[in-house]
Amino acid sequence: MSNINQSGWRPTTPQAGEASGGTFTGNRALMLEEPLIFEIGSTETTGVDFGEAPSGKSRLGGLERSRTIGLPGLSEPEAVRHYTRLSRQNYAIDLGLFPLGSCTMKHNPRLNERMARLPGFADLHPLTPVDACQGAFEVIHQLAHWLVTLTGMHSVAMSPKAGAHGELCGVLAIRAALDAKGQQARKVLLVPESAHGTNPATAAFAGFSVEDIPATEAGRVNLEALKARLGPDVAGVMITNPNTCGLFEPDMREISEAVHAAGGFVYCDGANFNAIVGRVRPGDLGIDAMHINLHKTFSTPHGGGGPGSGPVVFSEALTPYAPLPFVEKQGEQFVLVEEETAGEHHASSFGRMVAFHGQMGMFTRALTYILSHGADGLRQVAEDSVLNANYILRSMEDVLDAPFAKSGPCMHEAIFSDKGLPEGFSTIDVAKGLIDEGFHPMTVYFPLVVHGAMLVEPTETESKATLDQFIGAFRSVAARARNGDPTVKTAPHHAPRRRLDETLAARKPVLVWKAPVRAEAAE
Ligand SMILES: *Cc1c(COP(=O)(O)O)cnc(C)c1O
Repeated sequence: MSNINQSGWRPTTPQAGEASGGTFTGNRALMLEEPLIFEIGSTETTGVDFGEAPSGKSRLGGLERSRTIGLPGLSEPEAVRHYTRLSRQNYAIDLGLFPLGSCTMKHNPRLNERMARLPGFADLHPLTPVDACQGAFEVIHQLAHWLVTLTGMHSVAMSPKAGAHGELCGVLAIRAALDAKGQQARKVLLVPESAHGTNPATAAFAGFSVEDIPATEAGRVNLEALKARLGPDVAGVMITNPNTCGLFEPDMREISEAVHAAGGFVYCDGANFNAIVGRVRPGDLGIDAMHINLHKTFSTPHGGGGPGSGPVVFSEALTPYAPLPFVEKQGEQFVLVEEETAGEHHASSFGRMVAFHGQMGMFTRALTYILSHGADGLRQVAEDSVLNANYILRSMEDVLDAPFAKSGPCMHEAIFSDKGLPEGFSTIDVAKGLIDEGFHPMTVYFPLVVHGAMLVEPTETESKATLDQFIGAFRSVAARARNGDPTVKTAPHHAPRRRLDETLAARKPVLVWKAPVRAEAAE
């Protein structure tokens, strides 16, 4: 940006036009323009005064920095304002409904935060001696107990740090189990068309070759096609249930039985567990491994709010191959098992996923959530999340095409397509129109099985009043698109930035800031 004077002020001219709102500062009321930190600060100023450094002989052996690193000097209030202003250009679950399908953006209860900030948890170092952090191990142990209980599985590996990391953990255990049986030839993982993108990526990363299983008209796995593909080269399947069309796979048991009979394993992507927690136990469906996104189902923050956590629950058959470490109770003591032990647990562990024990802060939040909800509360989470999604589905189906609405209710998310929008209008226009209404858009163009998909997951933490406001906005934008209103094509109009060239941004990202050539230097 060239119109920056020495002090960082960036007066805009009336010609700067719409993007700046035509004001001197570029601000529009409370919507503040914010330049890059390099553009505000100057390398000649500093926010702190250091005394003269004592002179001494350098011991860097000639590796001293030879030029300045060019960081701008800012005072504390300038730095605080910079980041606070930037944060206001973002959308957050604490600002409003976040309808991003497949992401379970629900409220993060403040009680969770309070517990995670207790110094005994928050200040723990991962190398703290086991004797000095028995309470933390008790939290991990209790959470592990409830995850195994809620899923009806045999064991759990707590250390994976996200959903996709959990998938990797699960398929590595499958690989280890097959190798132990001398079945190195099983190299194919079957992944349904409707799978989350992380599933085929995980399978490929773990060295499997990936084959698609087509979806039926009703958005479910085609059971016959799956059965027909099973054989001695197939390691197993990766299935998301409820799937990414927001539908339950009713044939799950039959799928598991067929895969087991053919010598394979069943991986379930459990990211959508929110829709069935307390109602369905994946262990009863014949699943061998499933990750749980604590940052979705169990309300720990995500999406810029904190690290994820993806524990993996295992069937009895896969338990010996699960990764280290794990926490065990011996008498009154909690111990950390860091090596393969003979006996029931993890005797043939495939190794480790991470250096330490997992995301302690997320464990504390998730256990707080589970204990404060209780069994009845968790069941209600699932029921209300499904109820809210169906309310949106039925409130929208007369203005947007809902491809699976005829085959019955959805689970935790409602899916719409761009069928019925006039020539030249697409899903992206509806999504951008929602930004003007003050909502984060829903998930778009995913899953791929639905043309121009719009995937809406309201979650259970939204009130009817909030849902009604969202539905009002969504209906209004959808109706404008349907009627060919050209202003929808150029939305957003009220956001800090107008419609961006997202392809260019993805293909040619500008990642390095270059200092503008100053007028004096050019002279
Ligand atoms: C969110 C999600 C994932 C990935 O989880 P991360 O924690 O983002 O790695 C995988 N599968 C499905 C269905 C998801 O919704």
